[in-house]
Amino acid sequence: MENAKMFLVKYAEIGTKGKNRYVFEETLCKRIRNKIKSLGEFDVRRDFGRIYVEALSDFDYDTCVEYITKVFGVNGICPVTMSESTDYAEISKAALQHITNAYDEFDFSFKVHCRRTNKSYPMTSVEVEAEVGHDLLMALEDKGLHVNVHNPDVMLEIEIRDKVYVYSKVLPGPGGLPVGTNGKAVSLLSGGIDSPVATYMIAKRGVEMQAVYFNSPPYTSARALEKVEKLGTIVSEYAGPIALHIVNFTELQLAIYDNCPHDELTIIMKRYMFRMAKDIALREGAQCIVTGESIGQVSSQTMQSLGVIDEAVDIPVYRPVIGMDKQEIVEYSQRIGTYETSIEPYEDCCTIFVAKHPVTKPKLDVIKRHEKKLEGIIEPIYQKALDTVEIKVLKIN
Ligand code: ATP
Ligand code: MG
Repeated sequence: MENAKMFLVKYAEIGTKGKNRYVFEETLCKRIRNKIKSLGEFDVRRDFGRIYVEALSDFDYDTCVEYITKVFGVNGICPVTMSESTDYAEISKAALQHITNAYDEFDFSFKVHCRRTNKSYPMTSVEVEAEVGHDLLMALEDKGLHVNVHNPDVMLEIEIRDKVYVYSKVLPGPGGLPVGTNGKAVSLLSGGIDSPVATYMIAKRGVEMQAVYFNSPPYTSARALEKVEKLGTIVSEYAGPIALHIVNFTELQLAIYDNCPHDELTIIMKRYMFRMAKDIALREGAQCIVTGESIGQVSSQTMQSLGVIDEAVDIPVYRPVIGMDKQEIVEYSQRIGTYETSIEPYEDCCTIFVAKHPVTKPKLDVIKRHEKKLEGIIEPIYQKALDTVEIKVLKIN
């Protein structure tokens, strides 16, 4: 079987439509170009509501398919057989070549579907369909090929434009919108199952992601940080490069531990995480914070806790897995490929900072009163943590 040198990119949803169609398509082309540029020389172009990827050099077919089918905005890609000439004989030849290249056996039913953008073409679509169908049967009927117009195994698409494009298979992509069409977010990325899924979900809507990890050495290990980097890198296969901001959180946690009631540690710590994430977001020109919280999963994710945590910042906080069951989040993470890494046993939060009986219904005024005890102590610690953030760009290629 010979591999195609060209792909048609299918996209279903175009963000906010209208004039933005152009922006959407251009951004999608750019994302695809960036993604595959290390694999060879390619021409990625727009042509009247279609995007084509054409290889101009040798390339690794399987890796190329894997890369393009992970770009948000791509609904699917079709390996294409192209003919420069629109002469009928060349169309017929391309159709036969496509079938013989794309399939190993020919014992299946098919139907030809033709579209012409060039309406001055001397044959109608129906005539092309009938002729090509006939030619294919002549060539491959003895190998089992047969026609089924109602429910064919293979729909052979022929598009007659200035060139002719023949395709029949759709290799599915992730859908969504191309990253860069919907603003910027800062995602709180921990080593668990939920936050990588949350990061993926928001990126899938076209949002450029950065991530923040709160590191607590020596209470958390270097392996925990490596795990977060690995998770961010897996998400970056879809979302594009992700700048990971690594915050040294230990001193801040110790200050909270020394000055606040222990049953409120998690809540107060989360409020500081949010404040820090907001400051990083503002610094990076991002408009919101993303977390992997889901209602009721743990004590800091009760409705009351989420409300109290939210109050610490005045920018939007998005929690895309808020209404999902744990099992649903697990299945999602398996699908996108983060699960196996998430369940590696490096804890992201040191046990000394977690109370035996954390509050489940924190009261904002009480929390604020207890936070007051940090006044005069926490500010320089907070500023130092913010000033010493280490940035690492996570990407696969
Ligand atoms: P996850 O599975 O994403 O780790 P979780 O179920 O462990 O979440 P929590 O530990 O309560 O839940 O964390 C809730 C959210 O807070 C996480 O999804 C993440 O967005 C953020 N978060 C928690 N710990 C950290 C950390 N050390 N660094 C960055 N973000 C964190
Ligand atoms: Mg966690």
